[in-house]
Amino acid sequence: MNTIYDTESLEEFRRRNAIQPHRMKLFYNALFKHSKGWNEALGTLPEAARSDFETGIQFQCLELVERHDSEVDGASKLIFKTHDHHLIESVVLRPKTGRTSICISSQVGCACYCSFCATGKMGFTRNLTQAEILDQVTQSNRMIQPEGRTIRNVVFMGMGEPLLNIDHVFSAVEFLRAAPFFNLSDSRITVSTVGIPKAMERFVETFPKMQLALSLHSARQEVRQRMMPQARTFPLERIRETLVAASRHGKVMIEYLMLAGVNDREEDFLALEKYLKGLPVHINLIPFNEYPGSNLQGTPLEQRAEFSARLKAAGFDVTLRYSMGSDIAAACGQLVQHKQKEALL
Ligand code: SAH
Repeated sequence: MNTIYDTESLEEFRRRNAIQPHRMKLFYNALFKHSKGWNEALGTLPEAARSDFETGIQFQCLELVERHDSEVDGASKLIFKTHDHHLIESVVLRPKTGRTSICISSQVGCACYCSFCATGKMGFTRNLTQAEILDQVTQSNRMIQPEGRTIRNVVFMGMGEPLLNIDHVFSAVEFLRAAPFFNLSDSRITVSTVGIPKAMERFVETFPKMQLALSLHSARQEVRQRMMPQARTFPLERIRETLVAASRHGKVMIEYLMLAGVNDREEDFLALEKYLKGLPVHINLIPFNEYPGSNLQGTPLEQRAEFSARLKAAGFDVTLRYSMGSDIAAACGQLVQHKQKEALL
């Protein structure tokens, strides 16, 4: 069946039912701007067309199975189930100042196996479809609508490697920015990657105003390889060429997760400073979200603050991040793992 995110089929339905473009706009507004349910949105269409839409278009493809609201900050973790019974996670973030954001998943599990990542422990199952990627946003919007909120930022930092599911991620991103649908401005969409040069280049050429985030985590090849096996295939030198090309379109975000004794020493600082020198980047120093069985420890806050101050003194734009939703199993993939284990017992 066609999904509500398949723009060509929607246009075909519109023409077949001779619906005026302005009526279609009301329908799309009801669904994506005002986050109404399917029945209410259908009510905006001419009566004769409703059954054709109802029988021919799948409105929802994920089932919301769990919601965990943080007691300490504005985060809500959501677990969705796919039609083939896989679980994925999304996180709605409500910062005190700033826009409501969502962190979404692009795959079931992940094939990158980063040593610090909970999702990596699950292995890779499959790519999410364009509809499954977008349904996370639609359903979250409906959930927060009673709070008078709408999602204004979308970040691909949930489960999976978005640039290894490039076709579905690109078509989802097209839908997020399209005026009749979510109408998000490009600068409010962030795609985060382990660093796949050709795909990163394709991303910045196709969407030059969107935000690209690179999970760098170390500027030392041997350290990075230990943390992120993908780094063997895509060495730092090659990634730097991509960063140079990408930064012609704007700032690239650099994610640097700080792990005690792994990438937080003097030599790590010096390598990072040298690697990023001359590039217009924004560095995010992120704390480690621990999870059972992770065997790693985050760098203490004081040391992270010092690392941040030194990078600033070297002229870089730096944000020292605090973890959000720490009371609701913040490490991405952790809730799903827990739930899957429960299902097996
Ligand atoms: N695959 C993409 C996006 C998903 S992960 C990527 O690697 O960028 C989103 C971010 O969370 C990445 O920067 C990732 O390195 C980081 N991350 C993964 N596990 C983490 C953990 N346990 N604590 C803190 N950050 C983590």
